[in-house]
Amino acid sequence: MSSRLASVLVQSARGPARQQVRRYASPAAGGGGGSNMGLVLGGLGLAGLAGYIYLDRNPSAKAAIEADKKAAIERIESVTHGAKASLKERTDSAKASANELIGRAVDKVEEKKDAVKSLGNEKAASGEAGLAIIGALIKDSWTDFKLEKVEPYNHNTAIYTFSFPSEDATAGGNVASALLVRSSDAKELLDDKGKPVIRPYTAITGPETKGHLKLMVKEYPTGKMSKHIADLKIGDTLAFKGPIQKFPYKANEFDHGVCVSGGSGITPMYQLITHAMDLKDDKTKFTLIFSNVTDKDILLRKEWDELVKANPDRLKVVYALDKAPYFWKGETGFITKDIISKYAPKADGAEKVKIFVCGPPGQVKSVSGPKDGPRQGEVGGILKELSYNADQVFKF
Ligand SMILES: Cc1cc2nc3c(=O)[nH]c(=O)nc-3n(C[C@H](O)[C@H](O)[C@H](O)COP(=O)(O)OP(=O)(O)OC[C@H]3O[C@@H](n4cnc5c(N)ncnc54)[C@H](O)[C@@H]3O)c2cc1C
Repeated sequence: MSSRLASVLVQSARGPARQQVRRYASPAAGGGGGSNMGLVLGGLGLAGLAGYIYLDRNPSAKAAIEADKKAAIERIESVTHGAKASLKERTDSAKASANELIGRAVDKVEEKKDAVKSLGNEKAASGEAGLAIIGALIKDSWTDFKLEKVEPYNHNTAIYTFSFPSEDATAGGNVASALLVRSSDAKELLDDKGKPVIRPYTAITGPETKGHLKLMVKEYPTGKMSKHIADLKIGDTLAFKGPIQKFPYKANEFDHGVCVSGGSGITPMYQLITHAMDLKDDKTKFTLIFSNVTDKDILLRKEWDELVKANPDRLKVVYALDKAPYFWKGETGFITKDIISKYAPKADGAEKVKIFVCGPPGQVKSVSGPKDGPRQGEVGGILKELSYNADQVFKF
């Protein structure tokens, strides 16, 4: 109620009615002791009626009250509008600060990545090892290396040399480990689900080789990554990540390693066996059973034959061919239970044995049972029939 209306009502209520209310309302005044509520209500009613009549007869007072009401509404609206504007301003400013913080965090991550990359290269150059970031490769981030050279090896395989950004950097990592490979433009080579195609490869250069790494890649007619690599031109790049630790080899951990391999699955065995043969005090013996379609498909044959010559007491290589030439001294046909029993120590024999498997999916399934994604999966196939347990088998 506006102050003007209130004063009108008070004025209307003045006079005998007001005095009566005062007399009956006070118990100290003695009186009859009954309720005076009726009189109060009556008085208020009269005041209201008087106010109404007064206003009806005084349009200027009514207009003044309307003006007061309008002003009050305008004030409320202006306060509400101000509050709204200030809330929006604060929300916008909070949004802007959050965006700025996110932007700064992203910049910091990028900065750290670059720092880590150059630190890795520096440490590799100074020969310091044991870092999470080793040499030119980064475990959790893709790094592009430039294709420097392609050397055809046979009808479907070539050796690809990729150069590191620094001549002193190395691939690093421990034996046995693999690298992951992806197209430099992640959207260029996708699988059926629309995800980038990523494949493991094993460099045929050692972890300490400076300035570059070499991949020996066999091209499959319908192969996604092997075709992509085969189509690269000198100067193009390929993205690498790693190294991914596979089997941490230690000298003399077992007496006899048997490597069962097919086709391009030979590269992890090459890394493992060349490393073991290089270790000064390692007495571990190795037998490689290497299957291929024809003798032209045998990868790194010259290197294997030289390695056997240099380590006759420690290394034996057995070739198996699906299509063997007439005077063939090796094994023929797929790898069978008989072939493995002929060359591998028995599961429960005196020699502590470890059997490594890497080859085409069909061969791995038949020899050892398939891998379970990145996990080893149960031992199955021929090795299970021959009673080798999970500790005696490693699938690359
Ligand atoms: C630890 C590890 C290291 C490896 N290192 C090398 C290496 O150094 N050099 C190399 O060339 N490969 C290597 N491979 C195999 C490589 O990762 C790919 O599987 C191979 O290049 C085929 O990939 P892709 O995308 O071209 O073919 P995909 O598109 O995957 O397959 C196309 C076709 O080829 C068949 N196929 C897939 N892989 C093989 C295989 N290995 N043998 C026979 N047929 C196959 C498939 O059944 C399919 O029909 C390695 C594999 C592992 C697990």
